[in-house]
Amino acid sequence: MSARDWIDKDFYRELGVSSTASDADIKKAYRKLARELHPDANPGNAEAEARFKAVSEAYGVLGDPEKRKQYDEARRLFGSGGLRGFGTGGGGFDVGDLFGTGGQGAAGGGFSGLGDILGGLFGRRGQGSAAGRPRRGADVETEVRIDFLEAVKGATVPLRLSSPSTCGTCNGNGARPGTSPRTCPTCNGAGLINRSQGAFAFSEPCRDCRGTGRIVDDPCPECGGDGISTKSRTLTVRIPAGVEDDQKIRLAEQGEPGQNGGHAGDLYVRVHVTPHSVFGRAGNDITISVPVTFQELALGSTLTVPTLDGKVSLRVAPGTANGRVFRVRGKGVVKREGATGDLLVTVQAAVPAKLNDEAKAALEAYAQATAGEDPRPELTALLKQRSD
Ligand SMILES: [Zn+2]
Ligand SMILES: [Zn+2]
Repeated sequence: MSARDWIDKDFYRELGVSSTASDADIKKAYRKLARELHPDANPGNAEAEARFKAVSEAYGVLGDPEKRKQYDEARRLFGSGGLRGFGTGGGGFDVGDLFGTGGQGAAGGGFSGLGDILGGLFGRRGQGSAAGRPRRGADVETEVRIDFLEAVKGATVPLRLSSPSTCGTCNGNGARPGTSPRTCPTCNGAGLINRSQGAFAFSEPCRDCRGTGRIVDDPCPECGGDGISTKSRTLTVRIPAGVEDDQKIRLAEQGEPGQNGGHAGDLYVRVHVTPHSVFGRAGNDITISVPVTFQELALGSTLTVPTLDGKVSLRVAPGTANGRVFRVRGKGVVKREGATGDLLVTVQAAVPAKLNDEAKAALEAYAQATAGEDPRPELTALLKQRSD
């Protein structure tokens, strides 16, 4: 049965009762007609059989108080001449037209009953617009760039966000300043209409107020009646100590505002960390590479190494290997949870690009003094095999 069919049928006329007839009267009328038209009493009478079916169908709806209510409501909403405010002028009835969904509407769609008609309508629409129920706001994602030390120590940064928020002109009620929304008379402000079909009871957004429970006669010029306008806001964001490059920080309920009292969405801040010229990061550890001379490693020395907020002395024993990593405890990232990283110091022998005469002579003398020492005995052994 199509929507048009359903609306077109006059079940009251089928049963010969008025639309205000009591349930008892309807039952009485049906029993009388059913007896008269029953196929057993009218063998071979096709007309009686058709009438019998029509009467049964009519009673199937009117005999069930809940279905009767739906039917009445549908006739009130959709019935010829009964359209309220939709201005279809009594022409071709197209459910889709009412909701701007064009051709995908009811034309040709086989609706099995009123619940389907309304359920379909509101289901389609309900996904886009808020039902009367609280609806959580959308999550928002943004980015921020901080420098290395801010990431290590944590920082408070101002964040400028352009996002939908409560309209400041109307304070979110959608009405032009000086006016106010009125309570929707259809749902009495609930935003929902309760319906049931068979054993299923369900609520649907009120179509007159689009589920808001309120009707705005004179919309706010700023937000057009939505109560939400896009605007910039500056948010102070606390970046926790030890944040990593590309890490996302979640700020609960700092996203888009919710609707109908729903929670705001979350704000996700993707943090970009500008690298430091000296320090690096390895998790909670801070890394630093310290250029040293050959003689500092060979003879031993005491290095002064910068830390994040000061300096430490580092004793390099004579004969320290190039590239060795020293661990200075507790000089890394200090997290609020108590996890503290270390400072990892890598010594890196630097070869002078130029030598003065005195240095050159001294190095040549050193080379002479160590002439018998092979710095790469394993390779020498390997090369010896090759030449054999
Ligand atoms: Zn507004
Ligand atoms: Zn309403």
